[in-house]
Amino acid sequence: MTGAVDLRAVLRVEPGAHVRLADLDSGATHGWEKETAAAALDAQLARLGELQDRLWAEARQSVLVVLQGIDAAGKDGTINKVMEAFNPQGCPVTAFKVPSAEELAHDFLWRVHKAVPRRGEIGIFNRSHYEDVLVVRVHELVPRAVWSKRYDQIRDFERILAENGTTIVKFCLSIDRDEQRERFQARYDDPTKRWKFSMGDLEERKLWGDYQAAFDEALSKTSTDVAPWYVIPANRKWFRNLAVATILADTIDALRPAYPPVADDVPEGLVIE
Ligand code: AMP
Ligand code: MG
Repeated sequence: MTGAVDLRAVLRVEPGAHVRLADLDSGATHGWEKETAAAALDAQLARLGELQDRLWAEARQSVLVVLQGIDAAGKDGTINKVMEAFNPQGCPVTAFKVPSAEELAHDFLWRVHKAVPRRGEIGIFNRSHYEDVLVVRVHELVPRAVWSKRYDQIRDFERILAENGTTIVKFCLSIDRDEQRERFQARYDDPTKRWKFSMGDLEERKLWGDYQAAFDEALSKTSTDVAPWYVIPANRKWFRNLAVATILADTIDALRPAYPPVADDVPEGLVIE
């Protein structure tokens, strides 16, 4: 079976649903097989390229793509593959790292709001404001009284963006613990990838359960109609890419981006000399 399943419907976190990542199969492929998925991905990338061209030309609405996932879940790989569909001019990527002193001197959404896409753009967040209820919660970088209020604050922030013309689509790339071990090992073993590996990754890996709990709560509390979460089974990179590309294309398609009308003074049948 190929393509019979509506991935947007199957992988979406329904608002109010209680998510437990541990209960989901990160190796799921929803009937897809690797051989047929390659051509389907190419078709979705072509579709994405055309949709972006329209969105950019229209310049009236924007799309914000949020990518989250535990270390080695494939955020960079997804950006590399899926975003190749786009003209880079209309597709800014922002990677959120440990906040600078200046960023920490502001509210947690300050640096995020500055990075949201302009009209016509598809903006990609590689990590995001969700780190402020993930790593920040797991390491108690601020007290519970502070981070626990952020779920509502994030919902309000995303609603404001949506009401102002930004369509938000959020992907949580989900791998299981054994897959993370294999990817870390592969990173370590490959001289061209070892630079990505740090001993800190292993310390974070020990906190797997705490991270899962933090993800579960974030996904459960912040999937809304205007900013839904999709949990992407990401053990298999080919399925992850297909799922993200398809859901993103379906989301942008639904916005019906249209080329603007031709200027009034441009006549029909003009032959340029
Ligand atoms: P990487 O994505 O591997 O380049 O690492 C970026 C690091 O920045 C990760 O360890 C994140 O947990 C960390 N980070 C991102 N946002 C925050 C934040 N708001 N507070 C603390 N650490 C953060
Ligand atoms: Mg890292």
